Amino acid sequence: MPSSGEAASAGARPATLFDGVNALDHAVLVTLSGGRIVITPVDTASPPYCPLIWPLKDSYVVTDSRRDGLTVSTRSVPDARLVIDDRSLSASLLPRLNRTAGRSDARRSAVRWAVALGAAVVLIVATAGLASRHAAQLFPAGWGGGLSDGMVSQLSVVHPVCTGSAGVAALDKLATGMTDTLGQPAPKISTVRWDLVNAFALPGGRVVLTSGLIAASDRPEALAAVMAHEIGHAVRRDPLARMLRGRLVDVALAAVFGVSLDARTAEAAVGFLLDSSYTRDQEAGADAVALRLLNDRDINPEPGAKFFDTLAAQETGLAAVALFSTHPQSKERAETLRRHGTGTGPGLASGDWLAVQSMCK
Ligand SMILES: [Zn+2]
Repeated sequence: MPSSGEAASAGARPATLFDGVNALDHAVLVTLSGGRIVITPVDTASPPYCPLIWPLKDSYVVTDSRRDGLTVSTRSVPDARLVIDDRSLSASLLPRLNRTAGRSDARRSAVRWAVALGAAVVLIVATAGLASRHAAQLFPAGWGGGLSDGMVSQLSVVHPVCTGSAGVAALDKLATGMTDTLGQPAPKISTVRWDLVNAFALPGGRVVLTSGLIAASDRPEALAAVMAHEIGHAVRRDPLARMLRGRLVDVALAAVFGVSLDARTAEAAVGFLLDSSYTRDQEAGADAVALRLLNDRDINPEPGAKFFDTLAAQETGLAAVALFSTHPQSKERAETLRRHGTGTGPGLASGDWLAVQSMCK
């Protein structure tokens, strides 16, 4: 045995080293010398792939270890682990380790990982958003309608569809009048018994209104303004674009991160970005269509503007009012209607409006 080996093993204690590159464990001997942890592999035929001299000032206890012994890592190779069961080595090493290095490094690496993940997800969502908006235009107007009808029928298990026939006919007439002016197919309007104040469009020209929305609309013009906005989304194919974006993001994330990404992490990140619903552009686009529809149908914009004002005032609270979370920017919406709206009529004859108000009862 060479003399240097003998010197290194004086006071050397056994330990196990994981080099952070692969899962192999390496039997090693550890010496504390001149402010350093000196690691000597026992089996020189398969050496570990990491530095073997760890400065004590950079080395720290790894607290995520589930074992009884002492587990140590060091800043230059934070994935490497030195596992020490030897009590005398643990006792002499423990007080000399850096108490803060591990924590700050772990935090820094967690932050770095989160930033990288966030950037990748934002890029994917943005790209998918752009691609899906273009792709949505390639589908026929009714595409996705069957899927949407399935969603409405699922929803109706909890929130039954309102069947008051005069009310249903009145809303159909209002909607068809609007899309006729655009030369677009009539949307399929469903109203569900649900106290939540909400309205949403689904792929294939489906628009869903809630009884809560009807109850909150004190005038037919307000309901017409919300319906016009939803028809705006429908004719722009925004719901289909949103659905395609969700699918594209799923596929892209799987391609980029493969199986290595924690599914829940990805879901949370994507959910956060997609939950913001339509983009500002899509909202503005739907508002532009809605304004044209209300003007073409000679519907007075003021009750609608007032309704959106009320929503804007409640935007900080009231979970029961979901309309502004799915369609934010109520304040801008009200301003657009006031500034550019030209209509003077009610949108619905008084008998029709009474029928709509009682269609869910
Ligand atoms: Zn909207």
